[in-house]
Amino acid sequence: MSDVISIKEIDLANKKVFIRCDFNVPMDEFGNITDDRRIVSAVPTIRYCLDQGCAVVLASHLGRPKNGYDESFSLAPVAKRLSRILHPDVIFADDVVGADAKAKAANLKAGEVLLLENLRFEKGETKNDEALAKALSELADVYINDAFGVCHRAHASVEAITRFFDSKHKAAGFLLQKEINFAQRLIKHPTRPFVAVVGGSKVSGKLQALTNLLPRVDKLIIGGGMAFTFLKALGYNIGNSLLEEELIDEANNIMKRARELGVKLYLPVDVVAAQTFSADSAIKFVTTQEIPAGWMGLDIGPASTRLFKEALADAQTIWWNGPMGVFEMDKFSKGSIKISHAIAESHATTVVGGGDTADVVARASDADEMTFISTGGGASLELIEGKELPGVRPLRMPKDGE
Ligand code: AMP
Repeated sequence: MSDVISIKEIDLANKKVFIRCDFNVPMDEFGNITDDRRIVSAVPTIRYCLDQGCAVVLASHLGRPKNGYDESFSLAPVAKRLSRILHPDVIFADDVVGADAKAKAANLKAGEVLLLENLRFEKGETKNDEALAKALSELADVYINDAFGVCHRAHASVEAITRFFDSKHKAAGFLLQKEINFAQRLIKHPTRPFVAVVGGSKVSGKLQALTNLLPRVDKLIIGGGMAFTFLKALGYNIGNSLLEEELIDEANNIMKRARELGVKLYLPVDVVAAQTFSADSAIKFVTTQEIPAGWMGLDIGPASTRLFKEALADAQTIWWNGPMGVFEMDKFSKGSIKISHAIAESHATTVVGGGDTADVVARASDADEMTFISTGGGASLELIEGKELPGVRPLRMPKDGE
C-alpha cells in the first residue's frame, strides 16, 4: 500500500484550495457548540494553506439534515467559532454550490477563508453524486481532505470530488495524515508488548476489529458490556447483563484463537452490579462468577481494574477503544476513569479511538497524557479492521505508470 499524498508535496502557492473538514461538532439545544475539538484540530492545515498564500474554501457536514436547508443544522455557529480561533474573520456562504457560494468563492482573495453551508443540505452529498462533486471541485484549484471522521463514507465531498483533481492537485491534510500514520504503525509495526483494550456495548460492533487485531497483539483486555458475551461463553451466569446470544460461538472462537496464538486474553473478574439501568439504583461489587439473577454488570469492579492495570504495566503500545462500563452515569464510570489513568500513566505509545472513549479520557483529565486521540469513531475502527477507506484510497500516491 503506497503512502497518501501529503499536503506538503503540493504546490499551494497562491492557489485557491478546497479543504474538506469535519466540523460535525456537538451542540446544545440553543445552538451553542459544546465541544470545539474538531474545529481546533483542523486549524494546522488551514493555517498552513494561509501561510502559503492560499484563498481557503472550507466545507463540512453537520448532523443529519433530511430535507435540504434546516436552520438547526446550519454551520453558521461554526463560522463564528472559527473566526474567533483563526482571525481573519471567516466569510460564510448561505448555500453549498448555489449562487452565494459560487460568487463568494470566485471573489475570494489570498489570506481569506470561506466556509460553505452544511454539505448535507445537498441531497447528492451522501449519494456520492458526481454532479455535486464537480460543482464543489469548481470552487477551487486544489483539494485537501482533512475530514478523517467521514473517510469511511463514499460521499461526494470525500470520494467523488477526488476524480476532478489529479495527483498534483489533491492531498491529505495534517490531521488525516496523522490518523492514518498512527493506525498503520499500530497494525504494521507496533513496539511490543502491544496491548489492545476493548470495551463498549457490543461485540458485534467490534468483532472485525478484534479479529484483525488478534494476530497482531500480545494481550487483549476486554471490558464493558461486550465482556458479558465472553463470560457467558465461559459458562458463567451473567444475570441481566448485556448479552449477544448469537455471538456466543464467535466469542468462543476468539478465545480459542487467542490461546492458539499465545495472546493473553483478560476478562473482568468482578463487576459493579445493579438491578436497574439507572443512576440511582443500589449497587454492589460481585465477582463475575457470582452475579445474582436479576442483577446486571454495569462497570468493571476494583479487582478487574487492578488486574487490567497489571496487564498494562509492561505495555509499549496500547490501543484503547470502548469504555469499561456505563461511564455516562457517575456510579458506573470508575472503571473507565481508572483504566484511563493507567493508560495515561504508562510509558507506552497510547492511541485512543472512538468518541465515547475520547469523552472518558477528557473526563479523567488524561487527554494531554495520551500520545494520540483519534477524532473519528467509525473511521478509526475501520482502519484498525484493516480496511482501506473510500476517502483515503484516491489520495494514495500513484505508482509509476499510473
Ligand atoms: P460502543 O458505542 O459500542 O463503544 O459502546 C459505548 C457504550 O457502551 C456506552 O454508551 C456505555 O454506556 C455502554 N456500556 C459500557 N459498558 C456497559 C455495560 N456493562 N452494560 C451496558 N452498557 C455498557
